[in-house]
Parts: sequence; structure tokens; C-alpha cells
Amino acid sequence: MTSIDFNLDWKLKLQNRFITYAKIYSTSDPESEFTPSTPQQWDIANYIFEELKTLGLSDVSIDENGYIYAYVPSNLENDDEPVVGFISHYDTSPDFNGKDVKPQIWDDYDGKDLVLNKETGFTLSPSKFETLKDYIGKTLITTDGTSLLGADDKAGIAEIVTAAEFLLAHPEIKHGKIAIGFTPDEEIGRGAHKFDVEKFGAEWAYTMDGSEVGELEYENFNAAGAVVKIHGLSVHPGYAYGKMVNSALLAADFIKMLPENETPGTTREFEGFYHLMEVKADISEAKLQYIIRDHDSEKFEARKKFITDQVAEFNKKFGEGTAEIEIKEQYRNMKQQFEGKMHIIDIAEQALKDANIEPKIKAIRGGTDGAQLSYMGLPCPNIFAGGMNFHGPYEYVALESMEKAVKVIINIAKAVKKK
Ligand SMILES: [Zn+2]
Repeated sequence: MTSIDFNLDWKLKLQNRFITYAKIYSTSDPESEFTPSTPQQWDIANYIFEELKTLGLSDVSIDENGYIYAYVPSNLENDDEPVVGFISHYDTSPDFNGKDVKPQIWDDYDGKDLVLNKETGFTLSPSKFETLKDYIGKTLITTDGTSLLGADDKAGIAEIVTAAEFLLAHPEIKHGKIAIGFTPDEEIGRGAHKFDVEKFGAEWAYTMDGSEVGELEYENFNAAGAVVKIHGLSVHPGYAYGKMVNSALLAADFIKMLPENETPGTTREFEGFYHLMEVKADISEAKLQYIIRDHDSEKFEARKKFITDQVAEFNKKFGEGTAEIEIKEQYRNMKQQFEGKMHIIDIAEQALKDANIEPKIKAIRGGTDGAQLSYMGLPCPNIFAGGMNFHGPYEYVALESMEKAVKVIINIAKAVKKK
């Protein structure tokens, strides 16, 4: 196997590419019903589309929803290897300003406070963010304190494009066909919605959308939403004796029927929860909105049954029909899609090790676009892209982290074999 000679030229290419993307305004908007959700996302989509064509990728296309597809052809004589894909998203989070991003480069980081903005004194400090200490000697890319950086997930795009360019420039590295997909609107939960799995044509893929170096994720929550409605009886308070049923007070009773130590604030790792998101109540009706989460599908089913049983119990006490519940499935743990296909995970794990990276396999306490794609027929674990402190002005990424991600992509491309 040829080792990957990622010299200074390539490092600079990667850095410049990321900075170019970071400067292009591409915030998404959950209130919009369009795809992409914001017109500015077309600017970066069109830029990347042209870039991929210029770099010589094959079958580069962009559809009416802004989804970009492109390929690195196989350079094997007998091309019967499975097609493997890499995916990331070009929108940035609406949680913080993403306009006029002014990335700053800090070579050979000394481990001290970084004053990102001399005017405002905005500082990125290891006393607040301990992991900064792991980056001493590295090249850090930060914001100027007035915006997010957008390493989530422009780092992922820069890595995938650079890996593709590298493979095209190094025909001696043998690999099968590689599919590339870039999406809008991941940050508002719609990155996978209009993804054309069939057109993409990969047997499986990896989203390059994790954070810290080494992250490899193929488990997420099973998720459902539950709405509990409680009906009361409104009567003038002066004439209410023996008649009024105040649903707001009943809601308080119901809330206490769920275990108070099974909430997001009291659970971690593989512990599931019931999360009371919103209470709306007056005398005649109360509406409690819950989300239910568990990695384990049996425990997840048990949770849905438990909350339903509590409603029945509640009705026994306060009268049939007092409360009703509606449960809606939201998403599933993608792990179930890897049964019999663990080579997808094994290849990624080995690719990390071959790049001298210690794999950090974690279960996501949330959902991902990859989880949705996994249920659309494209098994899709998530790999680190290197950025830290996502969705805010403290966001940063080390050039060396992005370089490692490029190597992981190349290692996966080399390793994919028919199973
Ligand atoms: Zn992301």
C-alpha cells in the first residue's frame, strides 16, 4: 500500500478551500418551506458545483433542490467493488450569525488565550474550553467572534473535495467508484429529505459531520413524540362548587406520574428519557408535549407503553376520557440497519487506525441525517470532520484535524472490497 504523502501544497489547498467555503453565507432557516430553505445557499451550492467540474470529477450534477452529486471513477481493472459514498452539508446553523464570516488562522497555537476580536475583546480561552490544550502546536482556524465558523459542515465538504482531488492526482492509489453528495438544510433537519438515494448509487456512505478527531457514530436514539391532552370543565368560579374540573391542575398530576429521574437532565450515554417540552393549559384543556428517546428498541417500545399505561391509569382515577394520548414515531436508531453489514463500521474503524487515529465510537444522543438515510436504504454512519464548539462564535477547527479526515476518506476508498 502506498502511504499518503499529504505535503504542504495539499495542506494549503485544504486550508484555502475551507476558508473559501466558510466565507460564503449559507445559513438555513427552519421557518422556510423551500428547498434550499434560503436563497443564499444557492451561492455556495453553485460554487461547489463549478469547482467539482473544474477538478474533473465525473457526472457532476446539481438538482432543483440544490443537492449536488459527483463521482470519482474506479481505477481498478475489474471494477466490481461496491460504490461507497461520502456526504456532508453546506448550510450552517441558524442558531448564530453566519453572515460575513471572517476566519482567522493561528499557526503553531501556543496554548494561551486567543483574542479573536481586539475591538470587543472576545476571547477563545483554554480556561473555558479545556480541549484547546490538545491543539498546542497545531494550526487553528477560528472566527472573529462575530459569527459562527461553519466548520459544521464546511470542514466535511473541504475534506471530501480535497480527498477526491488527491485521488484523481494519484492514480497509483487503487480504489473503486466513489460517490459524493452535498446537501442543503441539514441544520434544520431536512438534509436527507430530498436526497436521491437511487441516483447517488452507493451501496453505503459516510457523513463527514462529526466533531472531534476519531469520532465514529453508528447509533442514535429511537425517537417518538407524544401529545397528552387533558380535558377539564370550565365553570364560572363563583358557581364552580362540585362542578369545575381544572385541566391545568390535572396536568400537574399527570406530569408527576412520569419518572422524574428519566429526563434529559438526569440521563446520559445509553440512558433513555421522557422529555416534557411544552405545557399549554387553561381550565378546559391542557396539552403536554413530550419527546421519548431510547437507543434500545425494546426499551423504547416499553417507554411508549409506559406513558400510554399512565394515561389509562389517570383515566381510572379521574374518569374515562379525561386524558388522551397520541404518539408519533419520529426516527429510528440506525444501528438496526447495520445488522449483517458490520463491515461498513469495521472498514471505517480500520481506516481511522491506519491514519494513526484512535477510534472514539459513541452513541449519538439525538438523530442525524445519516440515520434518516439509513432508513432510506443508504446505511450511513457518521465520521468526525474536526470542528469544535459548533453553532456559535467559539467554533474552531484545526487544519491537522481536517487533514486526518482527508486521510480517513482516502483509507476507506482504498479499503472498500466486495463482501
Ligand atoms: Zn453538521
